[in-house]
Amino acid sequence: MCGIIGYVGPRECRDLLLEGLRRLEYRGYDSAGVSLLGGDDIASVHAVGNLEKLRDAVAAGNGHVRGSTGVGHTRWATHGRVTEANAHPHSDTSNRVHIVLNGIVENWTDLRDRLEAVGAEFTSETDAEVVAHLIAAHLNGDLTEAVRQAYSELRGHFAFVAMSADHPGVLVGARKECPLVVGIGDGESFIASAIPAFLAETRNVQLVNDGEIVEITADGSRF
Ligand code: GLU
Repeated sequence: MCGIIGYVGPRECRDLLLEGLRRLEYRGYDSAGVSLLGGDDIASVHAVGNLEKLRDAVAAGNGHVRGSTGVGHTRWATHGRVTEANAHPHSDTSNRVHIVLNGIVENWTDLRDRLEAVGAEFTSETDAEVVAHLIAAHLNGDLTEAVRQAYSELRGHFAFVAMSADHPGVLVGARKECPLVVGIGDGESFIASAIPAFLAETRNVQLVNDGEIVEITADGSRF
């Protein structure tokens, strides 16, 4: 189980996400990635190895990866090899929903079979990718409601954060037996797997309880 960081607010958050991941490095990891919503599309960069590799990959994107809503992840592989394609964030087939996940989704093969049968195209070997496709399948104008419905179908122990290109300025997190915390700043909000990820930015921390779903925006949180 590794690191999650998410940000919503007015700031260009690429470096905030990379810094948040750096502060979670003590947990160990084998690969990493970030997704940012800039304009109408989400851009994602993955790298195998340490965060220096991710920073280089982001820099090579020449400003392509930018935005003020975003998520980042350091992965410790449990399902699927250590590859760029298996690094998080993962997205649905239309690239509109991106997720980062810590932990394990136990019923991922059943869900994957069901989603593939209705046209979902998977691009990784992970258990986590199923969550992006499942949220997209439930998405009907309300990201939080789609996460709630997806959550009720998932078995295992995990924490995840979802973002959608159709819902700028919103992140939705959920946890089941894995840690997730929210940080409320001045006109901006953070969500992470551990407090050190955003402690340099805010000390106003809210704990997400087991079984809870939280929506964060620049204005605060809703549990
Ligand atoms: N089970 C997921 C994977 O293998 C997440 C692992 C983690 O917690 O980093 O991709």
